[in-house]
Amino acid sequence: MAEQHYLVGLELHDRLVVLVGGGSVVQRRAPRLLASGARLRVISPSVTAVVEGMAQAGELQWLPRRYADGDLADAWYAMACTDDAGVNAEVVAEATRRRVFCVRADAGEFGTAVTPAVGEHGGLTLGVLSGGEPKRSAAVRSALVEALQAGLVADAAAPAAPGVALVGGGPGDPGLITVRGRRLLSRADVVVTDRLAPQGLLEELPSHVEVVDAAKIPYGRAMQQDAINAVLIEAAKAGKFVVRLKGGDPFVFGRGFEELLACTEAGVAVTVVPGVTSAFAAPAAAGVPVSHRGVAHEIVVVSGHVAPDDPTSLVDWPALARLRGTLVLLMGVQRIAAFAEVLIRHGRPADTPVAVVRNGTLRSQRTVRSTLAKVADAMAHEQLRPPAIIVIGPVAGLAPNPA
Ligand code: SAH
Repeated sequence: MAEQHYLVGLELHDRLVVLVGGGSVVQRRAPRLLASGARLRVISPSVTAVVEGMAQAGELQWLPRRYADGDLADAWYAMACTDDAGVNAEVVAEATRRRVFCVRADAGEFGTAVTPAVGEHGGLTLGVLSGGEPKRSAAVRSALVEALQAGLVADAAAPAAPGVALVGGGPGDPGLITVRGRRLLSRADVVVTDRLAPQGLLEELPSHVEVVDAAKIPYGRAMQQDAINAVLIEAAKAGKFVVRLKGGDPFVFGRGFEELLACTEAGVAVTVVPGVTSAFAAPAAAGVPVSHRGVAHEIVVVSGHVAPDDPTSLVDWPALARLRGTLVLLMGVQRIAAFAEVLIRHGRPADTPVAVVRNGTLRSQRTVRSTLAKVADAMAHEQLRPPAIIVIGPVAGLAPNPA
């Protein structure tokens, strides 16, 4: 069998690592080296703007000159990353003389060390070496990390501590939850979910995980929200790690903060994992930018769960009608006629563009484009049902010009 590289972990804390070159390779390698605690010295007449920024921030040292023999005198580890093969060869030669392991970026086989494809998952560091097939090692690394994140590969980590994680699941496409949210989901004993939480994520859960549909919790004399809070608290107190999986972001019209307060008052530990809110993701997925230079300098996200004339409404509709920017309306389908009317009555032009995005980021996504005066009829005509995001403002009329 051919010889293989020996995979190892270096303790680099406070040890000098010399990077010769200042281009994209150095820029890509620097963050992980810094995370290991290494002292970085970059030697190159010029560096990328990002590397220069790191030098200015004091994260690394940059010597703005060419490499010279002797530069590796104090190094524990080195990387030859210039675009000049001759210089890289000199760096490796000096490193070899000094018995310092050295990566050669342009021709790995002429170096004395190679950088594995690296991934991280919950305190684990994964390294994959392929012996000269970087695409293969990167692909395997990514597949392993994804499998770990999804809980498809057991990582034998200590069980998650009891408590509640309020996790924003994103707008619906299972690929739009955060990495942290997905990792916590994969470690849950109990998942309490909503109708609008991404259903695709639940299919991945191992069979021992108890999934509770919040809409179906019997709530007797308690209010629905109290009943949900009680389930979270009881399960956490019974020693379970509970993920409260919510649609979008937990704190955007999602009652997430009520759940946090209830848990905290009951002495249950809560972590909050932000999510991609449908208020921004659904328009984006439909090609509607909620802001655009020279078009909209403000974005107001509004709940349409009560009518404009409802005494409990906290929305100043006449003030919104005076804005020129973007209004993003959630929970607004049912009362769109009333919202359009009050906006027009208080001064928003009747021909203001409107885009309505139903089931944003899901396969069933649909967009209806109209104007403030006509949108209620258009939605009725299209029989557009919730959930939908209603975007009001000039941005709703923008469309890319095909080449
Ligand atoms: N916390 C959620 C919002 C909850 S309020 C978030 O940050 O996205 C529920 C409303 O969100 C719905 O009435 C609808 O207006 C909107 N919504 C949620 N998911 C949606 C989606 N995939 N497409 C369009 N609108 C969505």
